[in-house]
Formats: sequence, C-alpha cells, structure tokens
Amino acid sequence: MTPEEFRRLGHAVIDWIADYREGIAQHPVMAQVAPGEVRARLPQAPPEQPEDMAAVLADLDRVVLPGLTHWQSPRFFGYFPANAPLAGVLGDLVSTGLGVIGLSWQSGPAITELEEVVTDWVRQMVGLSSAWSGVIQDTASTSTLVALLCARERSSGYAMARGGMQEGAAPLLVYASAESHSSVEKAALLAGFGRDHLRLVPCDEIHAMRPEALAAMVEADLARGLRPCAVVATTGTTAVTAIDPVGALAEVAQRHGLWLHVDAAMAGSAMILPECRALWEGIEGADSLVLNPHKWLGVPFDASLYYVRDPQHLVRVMSTNPSYLQSAADGQVKTLRDWGIPLGRRFRALKLWFVIREQGVAALRARLRRDLENARWLAAQVEVTPQWRVLAPVPLQTLCLRHEPPGLAGEALDRHTMGWAERINRSGAAYLTPAVLDGRWMVRVSIGAEATERADVAALWQAMRAAAEG
Ligand SMILES: *Cc1c(COP(=O)(O)O)cnc(C)c1O
Repeated sequence: MTPEEFRRLGHAVIDWIADYREGIAQHPVMAQVAPGEVRARLPQAPPEQPEDMAAVLADLDRVVLPGLTHWQSPRFFGYFPANAPLAGVLGDLVSTGLGVIGLSWQSGPAITELEEVVTDWVRQMVGLSSAWSGVIQDTASTSTLVALLCARERSSGYAMARGGMQEGAAPLLVYASAESHSSVEKAALLAGFGRDHLRLVPCDEIHAMRPEALAAMVEADLARGLRPCAVVATTGTTAVTAIDPVGALAEVAQRHGLWLHVDAAMAGSAMILPECRALWEGIEGADSLVLNPHKWLGVPFDASLYYVRDPQHLVRVMSTNPSYLQSAADGQVKTLRDWGIPLGRRFRALKLWFVIREQGVAALRARLRRDLENARWLAAQVEVTPQWRVLAPVPLQTLCLRHEPPGLAGEALDRHTMGWAERINRSGAAYLTPAVLDGRWMVRVSIGAEATERADVAALWQAMRAAAEG
C-alpha cells in the first residue's frame, strides 16, 4: 500500500469508524452469534494472491460487526465501562502510524518523555503526592504481577540474584481478600508464592477487608516462623465495588514491613473527583498502585498505569542492560524497559495525551459525575419498587441488584435472576453481566459508557422490570 492509497483507504476507514459510532445505538448490544458462526464465515486458508481492500472492508460489516458485543453502546452495562473516546482512537492510530518502538530513550526519546509527562498529569488528576512515579503497563494484571515480584524481592533481600525461590528459606506470604480480582491470585501464583501461601483475609458485611483480621493473620504467621511479604488491597472490587480501608491496612503493613499494593484498576478513575478520594484515604502509605485509564476514565484499551514510591527498587528488580541498548544518554534519562516486563514499548502515551488534551480534566470530571448521579438515580428507583432490592452499597457507578418475588429462594431465585438477565441480553436492548454475591446470583449494572445518558438508564430500568416481572 502506497502512502497515496493509504490516504484514500484511511479516509474510508475513518468514515467507517465514525459511521459505526454514530449508529452504535442501532446494534443489538450483545453479539447475536452462536459459537463458531464467525469462523464459519471466513476462509480457512490465507489468500495466495492480494485481495481488494474493498472486500476486506466489506467483510467488516458482513462478518466482524455481527460478531461483536458493542462496548461503546449507550446501553452497555456489563463488566465495566471501557471507554474509547474518539480522540484516543486518533492517538492510538498515530502511535501505530509512526511505527516506532521504545527500547531505550534513544530509540525514540519522545516515547519516554511523553510517557513521563502524561503519567505525571494523571498523578496530579487523581490527587497523588509527587512522591509517586508512574509508568504505562498493558493491563492491571501485569501491574499487579510486577508489584508482587517487587514485593518478593524486597522481602527476600533480592533472592533472585542468588537462588531465587529455590533458596529454601521459610515461605513468603501474600494477603488479599476473597473479593480481590482473579488477577491477584494469578500474580501470586506466577510470582512463585504458591497457592498455599496466598492468605484470604476475612471481610466485613460490606465486603471490605478487615484490618484487624489481617493483623491477626500476620501475627499468627510470624509466630509460626513464616515470612509475611505483601498485602493487596482493592479500591473498588469487581463484584460489588467494595472499598478496602487502605489507611488501616497500610498501618498493619508498615508495622510488619509488608509491601502494600493497591488495586484501583476500576475505581482509580473516580479519584479525579476530589469528593471520591476519601475512598482511598491513606493511599500515600502504599508502596504501589494500579489504575486503568482504559476503563471508566476513557482511554482506548490498553493503558494501565502503575505507580510506585520507590522507582529505584522497581528498576533493580526489572533492569536488563544488553550492550546493543546502551547509549551515551543512559545516565540522564529514564529507561522504561526497566519499569516493567516487556522490552519493547508501544507509544501508548499518545492516546492518553490526546484524550486529556481534547477533553480537558473538567469535562472528564463532569462525565464521571453524570454517571455517579445516574447510578444514584437507578438505586433510588430500585429501592422504592416492591420486590426489588439493591444488595450492596453503591459507592460509585455499579449497582448490584435482584428481583425477589415472594416465595422464590435458593436455586429457584438463581434461575429467575439468570433468566431475566439472559432475556435482556438476548433481546439486544441492553447488556448486563450477572455475578455471584454471597453464594447467590445477582445482576450487576455497571453504568458509565461514554454515550450513556439518563434516558438509557431509564430504558434499562423499564427493560429490567418488563423482563423480570412480565
Ligand atoms: C479490571 C480489573 C482488573 C483487571 O484488569 P486488566 O487490566 O484487564 O488486567 C483487576 N482488578 C480490578 C479491581 C479490576 O477492576
């Protein structure tokens, strides 16, 4: 493809994306395809000869679009909002168009320096002190793995430079609550702690980790000669947006020299609102934290921000320095390959930069406040409607609810819940993801797609009532 052909086709593709976004409310929100249906519409073998790009674009409409659930739809209430504002789409396109890779500062100085600037912008936006330094990772799963690797090395006195996890010293322990994200367990296993050494700390009645329970577990483990290493607290758990008390957990962590990592992947975006910052009160006592701008804040996936208070420790754990990557500038610049696992770095900072500049922080705050109000409005409707129940506090934009007709309990109630959620999803009118809370199915309504207005939430409420009560 020549640059001239790219210009012509590129215009067509941008038009196609713009048309998609303009008409997004017309698509059934959940993909209406059966397993294997997309694959069956595609040739099994690659084309031997070049194809006309017009045919490729036509297949986007014919094959790809019907095979997608539409996350940018105003009626998308599943999982979490993964907003991809169009300014961010352009930033991502520019990154790809430039075709550069950050291996070292010299391989693309602006890749490093723009990343330093935008991670510091977000630090200020969420009200963190200047003691924090940030880096862009792909996902929160990676950020949490990096955190536990750093915790492991701090507690073991850099055992990786000697015998690593094979040294035979007493086991290192990680503490998290049962409500923590599955990525925490995965990180603990991948970092070599072992499932036997991941402690699930009990929660209170609103699903937040109990600091006195953590303290008691740590003390009991110390008494047994084990080595408590890290605590992962969550600001905004996946199922119910539970908020672990970071300040009290930080006190326990500091008393025993434990690494405190805060998983604020979803709720971290809310901290651009000063009125939400009490939710992570005590955050300055943590060692590391992750927040995902690719969720509610709205930067096209993927962009996860990992912040640490001691970058030198991070670099000591992650650094590599092969001769072909050394340059005269090394002493004066940041080497971001030493801030995470991959060597090569995408120019992800561009999409953050585009979004923050095009929207401005005030507009981002206004959008999040709109979503919080919509969630409070829906909670108020549900609470005053007979047989409907809000099951957990609504600190942010996610509601956990259930329709509980008299006489239905246990598995029959589960079937009813799954039944009406499934009917809504199949209808294409809206998309919801059920989850288990205290052993029973409930429906999560996660509000906050960029396009979602009050009318969409009201339409969802009507659809839920019709599907459950009808
Ligand atoms: C979304 C989420 C994750 C995982 O995020 P990825 O970036 O997809 O790895 C982890 N923890 C919490 C609390 C989340 O909301």
